[in-house]
Amino acid sequence: MYWWERNYDEWWNHPGTKDTTDFQRSKIYSAEKYAAVAVGETREAREALFQMFATEKEVEKFIKRVISYAWFVRRFGRCTIEFRVRRECNRAEGNCYSFRSTESVRSGYIIVPPSMWRTDYILHEMVHAVQLKKFGSGHGRWFAKAMMDVFQLGLPKEISKQHHEALRAGYKLYGVKHNPKRQLKVETREKLRKNFVKNCLRPAAATSEEVIKVNTPQVEHSVAELLVLDVDSLKERLEQS
Ligand SMILES: [Zn+2]
Repeated sequence: MYWWERNYDEWWNHPGTKDTTDFQRSKIYSAEKYAAVAVGETREAREALFQMFATEKEVEKFIKRVISYAWFVRRFGRCTIEFRVRRECNRAEGNCYSFRSTESVRSGYIIVPPSMWRTDYILHEMVHAVQLKKFGSGHGRWFAKAMMDVFQLGLPKEISKQHHEALRAGYKLYGVKHNPKRQLKVETREKLRKNFVKNCLRPAAATSEEVIKVNTPQVEHSVAELLVLDVDSLKERLEQS
């Protein structure tokens, strides 16, 4: 079973609070920045990753191209993503927005100010637009997983693989969760807890007293040797004088 075919119940982040907390948003941002820095070492890579679109038409064309890839359709189904321009915005409002319209239909729209018409920003917002509400919080487990795929599709071939690996490393570094939450039976949970106590919370191998006892004879022996040597050397010195 592929990840995108899994039951959406598994993707909940906090079963108790469901869709209310966006618990790893800043971690996702950090991982994205990490990947961008890791990949953007060469000029070509930087240009591909941070490519700015000059016109509204270019952005629309880019979005259409990505959502009509067979790979994209297989994962997310047929989607429509409307692109809207956010024209007047001061610096504080320079954010991107995306909207998921309903529970079951993947059709959303994204609003991005011209200053942020960058390949990676557009791709990020596209993932928001295709994420159904039932798949947990805004930047949750499902989002993180889907983002890896969409970036691979949308970025130029030359850097997509490298970026994929860097993003994975970023997820690991910042602890971004991108797999379905483990559903454990009560017995399994108890077993894991016991193993944890046994393997991770066990006392140190030996107490300090035991260590001293083990070492003491060796120390005494070597001290005795030193004394003997000293006595010998003293004798020699006495004889010489
Ligand atoms: Zn976002």
